[in-house]
Order: sequence, then structure tokens, then C-alpha cells
Amino acid sequence: MKDCETCGNEIAATAGICRYCGSVQRATPPRRPRVKVRTVNMESGRPTVEEGLERLQREIALARQTGVRVLRVIHGWGSSGTGGRLRTACRAYLYRELKARHLKAVVPGDDYSRASPDGRDLLSRYDDLRSGERSDTQNAGITFIEL
Ligand SMILES: [Zn+2]
Repeated sequence: MKDCETCGNEIAATAGICRYCGSVQRATPPRRPRVKVRTVNMESGRPTVEEGLERLQREIALARQTGVRVLRVIHGWGSSGTGGRLRTACRAYLYRELKARHLKAVVPGDDYSRASPDGRDLLSRYDDLRSGERSDTQNAGITFIEL
């Protein structure tokens, strides 16, 4: 149901004409909210460092094409082994991209909280990040990138 734009009576959501006052209803297609924040789980499938970096590049390209503004990259926090190498390699790659000005911001989860300038800035601009704020705060297994 929706309200008639002229008289305010309740009419069928699909009605083109109000059955009470006869006024024509504008067709307003439902706007699909744009996804601004996307999560990329680099740990799934346990990729090698090389595969992981390729996936990251693909995800960044896809995000740009689809209007995503922030990628929440879960790369794990292992200090050694594949997990640790993936994290190190991801961050090295992202900082190179940042330096080349291909990315607007790189915020490592370690520094991410409402108390840090970068974290506060991201949280204030992207509502979608709030639902994960508690678990993401100071989470070394995540890196946020702004495209
Ligand atoms: Zn009406």
C-alpha cells in the first residue's frame, strides 16, 4: 500500500490512479540503495599469496565498476605462515597503491577505532561500517581501503 500523493488516502502500491480522488500517481521506481561498503574475505579458500593478491586486484577493479567506496579486506592476522605472508603482502600492495594515488585511504584494522582519526573519519562517512564496529576495532586481521 501507499498513500495517494494528492489526497493521502491509502491505495494499492501499484495503483497508477487514486481510486478516491482520481489523481494520477507518479511512477517512482524503488531506488536500490547503493552498496558502499563491501567485504572481501581473502582467507576463504586459503589462497597462496599470489592468488590472494590477484583476487584483491580483481575485487578492487570490480568495486570501482560498481560504485563501492570502501572495501573491508579480511586477510587474517597470522604472524607466520601463509596467513601472515598474505597480510604482509596485501598491506604492502595497498600502501604502494596509496602512494601511487590509486587509493584514497588505507586504514589497517590495528589502528581502526573511534579514537583514531582515520577510523573516526571512515565511521562518520560510511554508516555501513557501524554494524561491524565492535568486532573490527583494533582488528589486525582487517584492512580498510577507500577507493
Ligand atoms: Zn487520492
